[in-house]
Amino acid sequence: MKAFKTLDDMGDISGKAVLVREDLNVPMQNGIVSDDTRLRAAMPTVNELSDRGAKVLILAHFGRPKGQPSAELSLQQIAEPLSGVLGRPVRYIDWEGDAQAVASLRPGDIALLENTRFFGGEEKNDPAVVDRFAALGDLYVNDAFSAAHRAHASTEGLAHKLPSFAGRSMEKELDALQAALGAPVKPVAAVVGGAKVSTKLDVLNNLVTKVDHLIIGGGMANTFLAARGVDVGKSLCEHDLADTAEKIMDRADEAGCTIHLPYDVVVAKEFAANPASLRTCNVHEVAADEMILDVGPAAVEALADALKTCRTLVWNGPLGAFEIAPFDAATVALAKTAAALTKEGSLVSVAGGGDTVAALNHAGAAADFSFVSTAGGAFLEWMEGKALPGVAALMA
Ligand code: ADP
Ligand code: MG
Repeated sequence: MKAFKTLDDMGDISGKAVLVREDLNVPMQNGIVSDDTRLRAAMPTVNELSDRGAKVLILAHFGRPKGQPSAELSLQQIAEPLSGVLGRPVRYIDWEGDAQAVASLRPGDIALLENTRFFGGEEKNDPAVVDRFAALGDLYVNDAFSAAHRAHASTEGLAHKLPSFAGRSMEKELDALQAALGAPVKPVAAVVGGAKVSTKLDVLNNLVTKVDHLIIGGGMANTFLAARGVDVGKSLCEHDLADTAEKIMDRADEAGCTIHLPYDVVVAKEFAANPASLRTCNVHEVAADEMILDVGPAAVEALADALKTCRTLVWNGPLGAFEIAPFDAATVALAKTAAALTKEGSLVSVAGGGDTVAALNHAGAAADFSFVSTAGGAFLEWMEGKALPGVAALMA
């Protein structure tokens, strides 16, 4: 039994008006959708509801209009691209005369309502806006995990007003996250990388109490190394967080979590592709004018061996400055190991984060991970162990 209801629990919805919250906040370049991942994520739910004879009313935000309607942030421009992805007509409905327009829909019709944030009360979860939306539908489906860390009228308020269900993409995401940190098969490993410790303090503090192996890479590893007395030269390092890093290491010790820091590293004097100053050395041999830009090959091999003993992996943040070669090597190698172990069936692997997704795609490993979340902020808050209001409301 799941802790939330899904489309399987909706019963007969033929002729019912179903409000579906999707994330259609797609990037645009010169009026064209430059990445349609989010439109494709909406398809399973929208098309299933339409096939089952519901009148599908899609609610979504677009940009940050802050209650100020504008043509630039109108969802009208997304109706056609969405229709192309769904392979069915999508009718655009603006916030004037919407009740009449909705009343004229037939079973199976799909409509895209205007930007929810054209109402100032959307982001304030204003009960009047919740009522305004609720009046249009009989049932509510939340399919937008990536917006679930916000308690807005269309992401949280509606769930208390109408019978509410998780859409297929939301269901998939929640199932994957549950398998990764909710009730994971042990031993569990986490990889946390990226630029700075300061942006991921809550993530680290939560993970040390939940995982057996915490692999720290990226710029943030330098802060931990420095806290242990290692001279990291010119590396990106938050020296003022030495105490914080030490506390995290103490907490890990108490919780029986093994922290893995690199013992060899790839360094250079400048951040450029294949610089003349490139070399690999022991962490204790970094010169004053060098920067640590990636985890070294010996450490990566040890990390791969540690992963082989684990059954679950959760990954956020690249191990090195992967945008420029060869500082992508550690991230690519460990991602390939995780992908192979997942393919063999010995590892459940869940990853998320903007740069992490880019790095896993770059490694050609994303498709073999059990689940890759594109949710950004919501994924990080979940890794911090926080309850997401949009998800909590579905479980209430
Ligand atoms: P995500 O978006 O997946 O949460 P982050 O934004 O936290 O990841 O981190 C990604 C950034 O960290 C990348 O731009 C990468 O270049 C940087 N980074 C990784 N390792 C290092 C390092 N050793 N020195 C400087 N920057 C690094
Ligand atoms: Mg990032």
